This record gives sequence, structure tokens and C-alpha cells, in this order.
Amino acid sequence: VGAPTMAGTRQVKLDKECELRVEVGADTPLRLRLVTGTAEIFGTELPPEIWLTFPPRLKFAVFTWYGATIEMDGSTETDYTADETPTVSYVNVHAILEGRRNRAKASSTSDPDSSQGPRVIVVGPTDSGKSTLTRMLLSWAAKQGWKPTFVDLDSGQGSITIPGCVAATPIELPIDPVEGIPLDMPLVYFLGHTIPSANTELYKVLVKELSRTIERHFAGNAEARAAGMVINTMGWIEGVGYELLLHAIDTFNANVVLVLGQEKLYSILKDVLKNKPNVDVVKLQKSGGVVSRNAKVRQKDRNYRIREYFYGLTNDLSPHSNIASFSDLFFYRIGGGPQAPRSALPIGAEPVADPTRLVPVNINRDLLHLVLAVSFAKEPDQIISSNIAGFICITDIDIPRKKITYLAPTVGELPSRFLIVGSLTWLET
Ligand code: ADP
Repeated sequence: VGAPTMAGTRQVKLDKECELRVEVGADTPLRLRLVTGTAEIFGTELPPEIWLTFPPRLKFAVFTWYGATIEMDGSTETDYTADETPTVSYVNVHAILEGRRNRAKASSTSDPDSSQGPRVIVVGPTDSGKSTLTRMLLSWAAKQGWKPTFVDLDSGQGSITIPGCVAATPIELPIDPVEGIPLDMPLVYFLGHTIPSANTELYKVLVKELSRTIERHFAGNAEARAAGMVINTMGWIEGVGYELLLHAIDTFNANVVLVLGQEKLYSILKDVLKNKPNVDVVKLQKSGGVVSRNAKVRQKDRNYRIREYFYGLTNDLSPHSNIASFSDLFFYRIGGGPQAPRSALPIGAEPVADPTRLVPVNINRDLLHLVLAVSFAKEPDQIISSNIAGFICITDIDIPRKKITYLAPTVGELPSRFLIVGSLTWLET
């Protein structure tokens, strides 16, 4: 593995089916371009000759099918060439999915089963390359002209929006290697916590709502239905995490389960799903290029992700600091609080917290630095089943004057007065 490299321009020649693995340094961006041949980054082709600027800390690989020369300008944390990658096995999966999409498209739209394209779910432990494989499959499909739906159930990191959510969006073009998924108008449900175990029941409810909305969309859109979906999951695969995986497979009616980098999970899923003949469980090798991140790095990544929501990847957005009166906004927490008063329960029974109960939250300084979701709900009782418009971050609470200051992506009134409170925080640094 390469040591930090010196600044300056240098060229790397890649043989066919090899990749250049890069970790951009912590402080300075890296410029890179394709000089000769053809190459792609996680399924998206590089334009010839054009310099691309990769932000600090980004980790990626430039893969070539037929050979290429790459030029880099700037220093990296590490960069090295690998001649062993699982990309061929990944593209073989893509080819099978393509066949299914074509069959779905050719079939009569009146038959909901045969007109349904592949519903792929990618599972595996943390840092097995799930997000990367998901991205490759989506970009390869988009390159062929499909508009597959990307579903992200990883509330810990989040590729579609900030952490603490489950989300979906159609992918209409190969995913930009620098910008990632375009952040315009995804379908987002707010858990409010990065770990689903903070409210497992709510996580399940939101996954269900997400699937219902996609199902409705597929019912009225043959093109989207034929393109199918690719679902990314979280790396928590033991205990409740495993149950949530089964819940996701079931809820989305997944028919292709791709298991990355863990023999045990593969054999368990293969066994559990053997009664479902139309579900294929496929084992895939983890790429040696996947970079492991410890808890601290993950936490940092989450912060960068929230910062990116407000400021853009390259500080190209200008969020606005807004002030509202206490009476303008309504804060709710989902879950917690006793379900029934003790007096209504049989003697000796303890009141249990209802995980999907809507609880009004009093305005106090505990709200400071929390990232809240702005609900699309028209009435409070719709909050749990509603998707969200976006996020704000509370930056000041003035109790005497009854004023709240918050950061929002835009100026002006929020799309709704209903805000969902979780445990997600962000401190601008
Ligand atoms: P998971 O979703 O399983 O947690 P990711 O797909 O997010 O794993 O991969 C972890 C990190 O490794 C990401 O930063 C990703 O960009 C990087 N990565 C994945 N594959 C490669 C590769 N072949 N070369 C370099 N970096 C890679």
C-alpha cells in the first residue's frame, strides 16, 4: 500500500481489468484525468482529457476494461494499482439484471409479475463495499438507458441524503464520481437516529412507508417497474440487524439478494430463503480496495454529510439563518412516553413506551444543535407516514424572547410548521 505521495503531475498506466485505487488526502483536493484509453469510476465512465477535482478524503478506484493512462495532479493519502478486482463478477450480475429488465419490458404491462424488473438488495457487514456495488449496478443500468430506483436503507451513512433517514430516488444518469447522487427531490423518511435500534419499530414503519410509495409509483409507471430497484442496506447483520434485513427483503419483495464478503450471512440467508423459489441469493467477493472506517471516521463522515446538505460539496450552496417565534413551529418526537397511564393497566403491569407514538416536544435549550426534519404532513397525525421536505439545524434558542434561530438551505418560510426531533446533531466547525 502506497505511502503519501508528493505533489506534482504524474501518469499511471493501467493494464486491462486493473484499477488505480486512490485515497485523497485529508486537506487538499486531487485533480485527475483520463489521458488515453477508457476507464470508469464505480460504473461511471470518465470523460477523456477533462480534469476532474476530487474533494479531500474521497476514496475511489479508476477501473479500466481495456487499458488506460491516468494523470494525477496533487498529493494523495495513498494511491496504488491493483490487478485483482471482483469487477468482472459484478458486471456479470449486471448482465443478468439487464436480461431481466429486458424481459420485463417486453412482457405485457397488465401482468404485474412478468413486467416487474429485478429487485436487488445488497447485504453484508460494514465496509464490505455495499454502497460501491449498489452504485456500480445503478450506473451501469443508467448507462443502458434504464432509470432504476435507488433505495437506501442505511441510516448510518446515507448516500441519498443525510444520515438518520431511509430514502429513495430514481437514477437517470450514471452517478457522478465527484458529486454522487443529485440531491434534488429524493423521497425521504426521517428516523432521526443513525442507529435503527434507537427505534426499531419506527425504522420498520418507515421502510414500509417507503416501499408503499415506490410500489404505487411502479404500479403507474411501466418503465420504472421494468428498470427495478437496487437497495443498499446497513452493515448491521447480527441479531436485530439481521431481522431488519429479512424485514427489508420481505417488504420490498426483493428477488435478488447479493451477499458481499460474508460466507456465514450468505449461508444463513440461502437457507432461510430456500422456500422462496423466485428469490436468488448470490455470494459475491468483497473488493480488496474497500477502505475500512472506524467509528470515529464514520462519525466524521456523518458530519461532513450534514455539512454538505447545507453548504454543498464545494461550498457552492449558501444556507440561511432564519428566526422564528416559538409559536410558529411545532416540534414532535416519535416514540417514547408511556402508552397508557398506570391506572389503566392491570395491577403490576408497567407502562411501555410506544415506539410510534407522536409526542409533542417542549421548546428548550435541549433542541440546540439538533438536526430536525421538516415534515410534509398537513396534520400532526400524518407525521409518521409522511415523507419529509428537508432539514434544519437549530443554532440558537432565546427563551426570554421566545425566538428560535435555525439554519435552513433556503431563505423564507418552511414548507411546513411540523418538525420532527430525533437524536441527530450537528455542530458547525
Ligand atoms: P459499505 O457500504 O459496505 O460500508 P463502501 O462501499 O461504502 O462500503 O466502501 C467503503 C469505502 O471504500 C468507501 O469510501 C468507498 O469509496 C471505498 N472503496 C470501495 N471500493 C473501493 C476500491 N475498489 N478502491 C478504492 N476505494 C474503494
